[in-house]
Amino acid sequence: MPSPSRTLRAASTFKWSETLSLPKSTFPARTTAEELSRLRERCSDELYAWQRASRPKEKEFVLHDGPPYANGAVHVGHALNKVLKDVILRWELARGRRVHYRPGWDCHGLPIELKALQQSRTHTNEAKALEDAPNQEAAAAAATGMGLSAGEIRRRARALATETIETQKKSFHSWGVMGEWDAPYKTMDAAFEIRQLGVFREMVRKGLISRHHRPVYWSPSSRTALAEAELEYDDNHQCTAAFVKMPFVRLPEVLRTNALVNAGNISALIWTTTPWTLPANKAIAVKDDLQYTVVELLESGSTDEQAEQLLIARERVEYVLSHLQAGIVARTIVEDVRGSELADGKAGCFNLFQASESPILSADFVTATSGTGLVHMAPGHGMEDYQVCQKHGVGPAFAPVDAEGRYTVDIFPSQTGNKSLVGLDVQQEGAKAVLDLLQSPAKYLQPGVHGSASSLVLASHTFSHKNPIDWRTKQPVIVRATAQWFADVSAIQQRARASLDGVNFIPEGGKTRLSSFLSGRSQWCISRQRAWGVPIPALYHRDSGEACITDESVDHIISVIEKRGTDAWFSDAEDDRAWLHSSLEPGKWIRGKDTMDVWFDSGTTWTSLKSREGQPVADVYIEGTDQHRGWFQSSLLTHISVQDPAEQPKAPYRSLITHGFILDADGKKMSKSLGNVIAPEQIVDGSLLPPIKPRKQRGKVQAQKAGQTDSSTPQYDSMGPDALRLWVASSDYTSDVSIAVPVLQEVQQALQKYRVTFKWLLGVLADYDPAHEMTTYQLSTFADRAVLHRLAQTSREIYQAYGDYQFHKATKHINAFCNNDLSAFYFEICKDGLYTGSQAARRRTQSVLATILTELMRWLGPLVPHLTEEVWEYMPEAMKADQEHPLRQIWSKPFSVSMDDMGSALEDFSRLSAAVKLAQEDARRAGHLKNGLNCKVEISEPSQRVKSWGDELATLLVVSQVEMTDCIPPTAQWRYEQKIDSMTVAVVPADGEKCIRCWKSTAHKTDVPCEGCQNVVQEQGHMLA
Ligand SMILES: [Zn+2]
Repeated sequence: MPSPSRTLRAASTFKWSETLSLPKSTFPARTTAEELSRLRERCSDELYAWQRASRPKEKEFVLHDGPPYANGAVHVGHALNKVLKDVILRWELARGRRVHYRPGWDCHGLPIELKALQQSRTHTNEAKALEDAPNQEAAAAAATGMGLSAGEIRRRARALATETIETQKKSFHSWGVMGEWDAPYKTMDAAFEIRQLGVFREMVRKGLISRHHRPVYWSPSSRTALAEAELEYDDNHQCTAAFVKMPFVRLPEVLRTNALVNAGNISALIWTTTPWTLPANKAIAVKDDLQYTVVELLESGSTDEQAEQLLIARERVEYVLSHLQAGIVARTIVEDVRGSELADGKAGCFNLFQASESPILSADFVTATSGTGLVHMAPGHGMEDYQVCQKHGVGPAFAPVDAEGRYTVDIFPSQTGNKSLVGLDVQQEGAKAVLDLLQSPAKYLQPGVHGSASSLVLASHTFSHKNPIDWRTKQPVIVRATAQWFADVSAIQQRARASLDGVNFIPEGGKTRLSSFLSGRSQWCISRQRAWGVPIPALYHRDSGEACITDESVDHIISVIEKRGTDAWFSDAEDDRAWLHSSLEPGKWIRGKDTMDVWFDSGTTWTSLKSREGQPVADVYIEGTDQHRGWFQSSLLTHISVQDPAEQPKAPYRSLITHGFILDADGKKMSKSLGNVIAPEQIVDGSLLPPIKPRKQRGKVQAQKAGQTDSSTPQYDSMGPDALRLWVASSDYTSDVSIAVPVLQEVQQALQKYRVTFKWLLGVLADYDPAHEMTTYQLSTFADRAVLHRLAQTSREIYQAYGDYQFHKATKHINAFCNNDLSAFYFEICKDGLYTGSQAARRRTQSVLATILTELMRWLGPLVPHLTEEVWEYMPEAMKADQEHPLRQIWSKPFSVSMDDMGSALEDFSRLSAAVKLAQEDARRAGHLKNGLNCKVEISEPSQRVKSWGDELATLLVVSQVEMTDCIPPTAQWRYEQKIDSMTVAVVPADGEKCIRCWKSTAHKTDVPCEGCQNVVQEQGHMLA
């Protein structure tokens, strides 16, 4: 029994508020920048180091970082990627794993090289250095590079990459992403380069690397070969397409023996969208089972006996006519010839540029849905053309175009005097010059042998189609045959695809996508004609040009690079013998200048991971969907390449997760050119949302004192990095994610809600002693049991969502619980009891609230670690002593309680509560009721369920009294009714006066507290006068 320690003064002067147990918390409304950085150190750096040291290594979970490109400013796409990775890591950590995350950077390649050149050319400041190279300037920068040595270019590029990495790292780290920031991997590190060369050597040993002269994507603006992953597409590329006659010099048997065919004046009609490739024509393709016809084109009514004859697919005649002037008709000379009869190995058409004969070949890709059904084949300028020609032994892959996309002297060997085409840009004036020349071919043709010598261009027209462009310069890409190094993907394709059977894809469609990209690739062009990269360790014979890339030579070169570094490859004297293996004749071999495709660099990042017995090197790879074509694929290919073919093929990843791209509020992809790019900092500092109202005078003065700009500068409600994280977590990353103000507002509100909830919980738990914790068995009130039931339900859902990496679902459940189950239900009900009720009631409620607080921190830990850490710091010491840090404890299973029938009871209660609220609203509108607390609720013919709530019902409904009757009671002063099922629920005036302490209408007099309050006050040790 508490002994009376104080004597009350007269009741009238007593401050009743002093006897209330109001929440006490110093938890701040917002966090300062200094606080944030301190919290980050604890919840990221210290946490990461702690778990590396204390979690068992058998529980290792490896998330392998797809290296961002060390070029340009950080954008919101980086934030989506990095934060998702961090949420996964923190969830796995919560599950008891020891997580490994070593961030990395992709450092080599053309974009950085161009930017380094551009930077030195224009002497831009640091800020500008972080912008992407503008389209047109890229080519200019490349031109600057022509005057610099490879060593100098590499020095500048390395400096730029190093600087960019530091800037990006700072941002990534500031979002609370934990990992080995002190020891990231970089593809330009000497050790990395050696490992990458080791993979290359292994591929050489397996016979997967070879050199071929064959068509590759070539960017004239960047002067290098490009991989498919370096292409973008212009959907509306404009070109001049043309119908061009290829005069027959030898007819196929089926036409030669036909008396109606005029052997001296018949041409195959082709249609091309790239007239500039006509000089490189080597063949004409037809399809075996298509029907072809020979026609004469005549003006309507004319009967020209000497009309020119054209071979066209029968189904395409109408299409051709549609491009000619009105009134021209086609007179059929030969009705039906099958493609297979045309490709009889005897026929040939005339290429006037080369003065050569182009045979007719059959090819499956020819269709009757476009062109003329006869396809111009330039194996030096088309991948399919190359394959078909190779199959038929037609070659070489001739491409009279230089690195800048201009015609070389080889274009017209038959007319060495004619230099008019040499040096022309093939895509611009070159295409036009070729067509002009074909329009008056007389001087290049021998009349009688090659027909009438009239124009060989039947018609030309503007045509728009999808065309590849360089991903960096955005300029058109051509196909050009050059000598390049290739990795033979076809040899490992099947093993690569088979390895995917063991991979878990999120979303599932990723498997088909990656698989189809793998199938579509047979040769991977891995050489680039640039300076900033890992050298291809090939030597070339001075005289013959023969390439040497033997096992011993590569091995030897790697040993020299181990000592001297890759820079030496480019800067050492040309005759430095140290680079030559002893089997090579000194003075005869020189080092090549090609570097490796950067996708080969990043494709070998798995070499920075430890191999694990019976497990893939990484548990998770997670990147944007474009990486099915890029990094996911190159990583898989190099990984499979070095494996023993006798063993089961293994992918480097257990789970392969893809996320979408960031779209703006209008659903447009973010891009510099559209000017809709959002920096992650704008989400962190709240500047995308409307500014907060101007501060009061005092704040203004302080701001001015602190040297800030004038008071008209808008102030934003900075929510810190947790806002960025919560935005990421609440987005469904499996499709594209849009950033719109309403979405960000929701995020901000949710974060605010968590803060307010925590502040209140910390306040009411300030005096909580975990020794008083009650078991659910001891909790007999409906409200307590109901909220724990919902806590368990929600915890199960959240646990499941985390397990499926569906963080947006987890976030949704957390928010719903905070809003509906806490704010609108439990907190509302328990508040009065906590502030004004007995010690026993308070302890009971605190016990429930402590459980909720602990669980909430568990849920939010992976999403908003800064807030979680901060809450932990403000947690009552007694509670802290009773549990482990929320970011360190193991969340092995969801919180659970077993409560029978709670689901339907809650449903019944919420209907009853809603009816009471409606009736109260009516009373309020009529001016009869101010505070809902000050009414009484009458329930006539209550259901069994309602009866079971008994005395607790007034508390549950937050009213002064509840009366249950079987008949309608006598008329009150006023009365507002609602019906539910057979019950009538009425809100009527309360029975008592408003209590001066608890404000419920439960007192007998206006100046003396109600009986309940008197008991509580006495329990506290006060003596009532
Ligand atoms: Zn009271």
